[in-house]
Parts: sequence; C-alpha cells; structure tokens
Amino acid sequence: METNVKGIYLAGVICGGLETHKWFIENSRVHAPQIIKAIVSAG
Ligand SMILES: Cc1cc2nc3c(=O)[nH]c(=O)nc-3n(C[C@H](O)[C@H](O)[C@H](O)COP(=O)(O)OP(=O)(O)OC[C@H]3O[C@@H](n4cnc5c(N)ncnc54)[C@H](O)[C@@H]3O)c2cc1C
Repeated sequence: METNVKGIYLAGVICGGLETHKWFIENSRVHAPQIIKAIVSAG
C-alpha cells in the first residue's frame, strides 16, 4: 500500500484512482492492518 513516496501509504477508495467503484468497506478494510504491519516491520 506504500506509494512511490517512501513512508506514505494509501488506504481505501483512493487506491482505485478514478475507479471509485473498486473499493468498498468490505474489501478495503484490510488496508489498515497491511499498512500498520508494513510500518511496524520497517522499524
Ligand atoms: C451510495 C454508496 C453506498 C455504499 N454502500 C456500501 C456498502 O453497502 N458496503 C460497502 O462495503 N461499501 C459501500 N460503499 C463504499 C464505501 O462508502 C467506501 O468504500 C468507503 O466509504 C471508503 O472509505 P474511504 O475512507 O476510503 O473514503 P471516504 O469515506 O470517501 O473518505 C474520504 C474522506 O476524505 C475527505 N476528503 C476528501 N478530499 C479531502 C481533502 N482535500 N482534504 C481533506 N479531506 C478530504 C472526504 O471528505 C472524506 O471524509 C458505498 C458508497 C456509496 C457512495
């Protein structure tokens, strides 16, 4: 979920860009734990 800017992550609908129909609560709620895991493991 990390962007091309190190340390900046995206979660939710924004990940679909202009395709706002791709991400819903039900399939994007995983983004937060993924991001937290990446931040924690990056130390
Ligand atoms: C009518 C409708 C029904 C839906 N029903 C369902 C459903 O039944 N089940 C489901 O899983 N999903 C549903 N969704 C999708 C769900 O709403 C989204 O997946 C979810 O809200 C995305 O959350 P988000 O935090 O990514 O974005 P958002 O909830 O859109 O949050 C983005 C936030 O950023 C703010 N913002 C925008 N620009 C700026 C700025 N420049 N500066 C500061 N703040 C800014 C906005 O005001 C907003 O509060 C529905 C969507 C719609 C439109």
